[in-house]
Amino acid sequence: MGAFGLMGGEYEQVVYNHDPASGLKAIIAIHSTALGPALGGTRFYPYPSEDDALADVLRLARGMSYKAAMAGLNLGGGKAVIIGDPKRVKSEALLRAYGRFVESLGGRYITAEDVGTYIPDMDVVSLETRFVTGRSPANGGGGDPSINTAYGVLKGMQAVAEELWNEHDLAGRHVVVQGVGKVGTHLCHLLHQAGARLTVADVDVDNVARAVKEFGADTVEPGKAHAVECDIFAPCAMGAVVNDDTLPELKCAAIAGSANNVLARDEHGYALRQLGILYAPDYVVNAGGLINVADELKGYSPERAKAKVEGIFGAVRDIFHRAKAEGVPTSEAADRIAKDRMRDISRLRLIRVLPGVSG
Ligand code: NAD
Repeated sequence: MGAFGLMGGEYEQVVYNHDPASGLKAIIAIHSTALGPALGGTRFYPYPSEDDALADVLRLARGMSYKAAMAGLNLGGGKAVIIGDPKRVKSEALLRAYGRFVESLGGRYITAEDVGTYIPDMDVVSLETRFVTGRSPANGGGGDPSINTAYGVLKGMQAVAEELWNEHDLAGRHVVVQGVGKVGTHLCHLLHQAGARLTVADVDVDNVARAVKEFGADTVEPGKAHAVECDIFAPCAMGAVVNDDTLPELKCAAIAGSANNVLARDEHGYALRQLGILYAPDYVVNAGGLINVADELKGYSPERAKAKVEGIFGAVRDIFHRAKAEGVPTSEAADRIAKDRMRDISRLRLIRVLPGVSG
């Protein structure tokens, strides 16, 4: 299928950027600017084909629209991919060429780091464009966003506790954290402080050992984490952990974690509802990182960013209420709330104001 077919009438713009001298091959996808400029990270990955890269950037860009809408940000959704192995082809020239292409979009797309790109890379990109976040604190950035991502997941879990157990306290609750990397480790720290009992899984044995030592966590094999009987299962590694194979093995009361695209397919949201497992939608509970980088656009304030992340509690609560009221899965309720906000707020642009006052 060609690009227009894949865009399905849903995307505003897809831009292919090529700089043969540096080896840059990048695709920038803008899903929607209904709420504001499209903000989303740059994934640097050795995609097997251009079609794979296009499919990934389109899927990710749409997710960013919903994430920004649910987080109450005045931002649209976009994403970029750079095709290639970052360990082999990343260079200053390539990143700066990429920065120039981002600049050429005039602010319709604002970038940040993602898989394969890091804070120092965004500092390099910023030499060529104003439209970049996720920079180092020394360069006006907000630093490591995973701290606020973990804090947002904790807030989502507190909304789960309210819904299921009529309290916000996580003391004594058993939480299984799958993936104790940057977000997972910060999350374990917060849960340990809150008095939760932890079980962790990771393919990296050093990361597991650290969680055992620091938080007294129990351990489980990475491939079995989803099957542990627990109060909350927190996927904080890869996506698609709720799939046809894992569904019948789940023994948790709820799912809330930082991983993107936790559900392999949309219908798995319906399956979780049938099983009576409460799902806190991934793009809502993991929005802390986006909120953190978005704050840079106003001149980064750690206090303001953290206060905004606290709003994830109310967002998740609203989703649970709407899901009940409309008899739909929480994943569907989240999409509905996000789409409503995009429609209602973008409509306001039809009210004409003086030039320069508002886009
Ligand atoms: P990370 O690379 O620091 O950590 C991921 C951890 O998962 C690593 O320790 C890795 O060894 C482990 N892992 C990989 N495969 C695994 C498997 N099969 N089973 C168990 N563990 C496995 O990444 P991160 O920044 O902590 O992000 C974690 C997840 O959260 C990712 O899906 C990411 O897209 C998502 N996310 C992160 C942020 C952020 O601010 N960092 C924001 C939003 C979403």
